[in-house]
Amino acid sequence: MWATIERIEQVTERVRRVHLGGDDLRRFEPGLPGAHIKLFLPAPGESRPPLPAGYEGRRAVFADGVVPPVLRTYTPLRFDPRGHLEVEMVVHGEGFASDWVQRARAGDSILVAGPRGGWEVPQDGAWYLVVADETAIPAATQVLAALPDRELVVALEVIGEGEERRMGLGGREAQWLYRGDDARQAGMAIEQFVRQLELPGGRGYAWVACEAGAMRRIRRHLIGDRGIPPEHLVTRGYWKLGVADHPDGDYGLDETDSPPHAATSQRRRKP
Ligand SMILES: Cc1cc2nc3c(=O)[nH]c(=O)nc-3n(C[C@H](O)[C@H](O)[C@H](O)COP(=O)(O)OP(=O)(O)OC[C@H]3O[C@@H](n4cnc5c(N)ncnc54)[C@H](O)[C@@H]3O)c2cc1C
Repeated sequence: MWATIERIEQVTERVRRVHLGGDDLRRFEPGLPGAHIKLFLPAPGESRPPLPAGYEGRRAVFADGVVPPVLRTYTPLRFDPRGHLEVEMVVHGEGFASDWVQRARAGDSILVAGPRGGWEVPQDGAWYLVVADETAIPAATQVLAALPDRELVVALEVIGEGEERRMGLGGREAQWLYRGDDARQAGMAIEQFVRQLELPGGRGYAWVACEAGAMRRIRRHLIGDRGIPPEHLVTRGYWKLGVADHPDGDYGLDETDSPPHAATSQRRRKP
């Protein structure tokens, strides 16, 4: 569906909130907590993505000389059925979407597809652990809003104090962890935090979303060292160091410590 930029809000030095509007967005369904959308972004110099000239099977085909749009995965942070959608985008080193949000202007248009995926948050936990880096803070706020009032630990990793986001944590306290401005350190602060954490007893659930390598290390630790059943975990690689357009369905299920039934239970949540 088409969406037009109404304004772009500078939330922190590295985070921009894109306010999108338009009649098409009235049809948008917000989906489950932590669901994702695909943004179709135009090439530099263009104010809207081109439409395909046709399709070969499911593959869009563009006319000669037309630069196809670039697709990236984001979280539909907040939706108003009157046709208003907000997306928060992290500006980081070099990346198509990161560059786009710095050059985009009010009046420019993009295409939005989805939402898909997300977590049907189980309500029977004695405790919950929510761990995210800055790309997953929008999704984490949705997960937090869907949790029952139980014991909760929230750890959010950003590069430094100025990147803390004063946004709807639903009255919950979060531990803000700083990793510094070196992307190679991504996920290390939350990994260290989780390793040192004293977890409460009883049935617990963890939702972890961050850089893909860090996510795997945290997943391995929670299953292997803490004995948390894989079906009580949702672990998502939101981006991967050195890889452009990391796939949106990376749940870390290639880990050998995940028995097959866990893979099935998480796969059901996939788009
Ligand atoms: C389900 C899901 C929901 C997501 N929701 C959001 C969201 O709401 N907001 C948000 O900002 N991101 C979100 N992301 C992450 C976002 O899709 C990635 O960060 C994406 O790679 C950004 O695209 P890009 O074109 O800027 O960079 P790409 O072209 O994909 O990557 C270029 C280079 O930048 C690096 N890179 C990518 N992201 C980062 C980063 N954050 N920090 C440092 N280096 C990076 C890559 O490793 C690569 O080397 C989500 C991802 C998933 C899977």
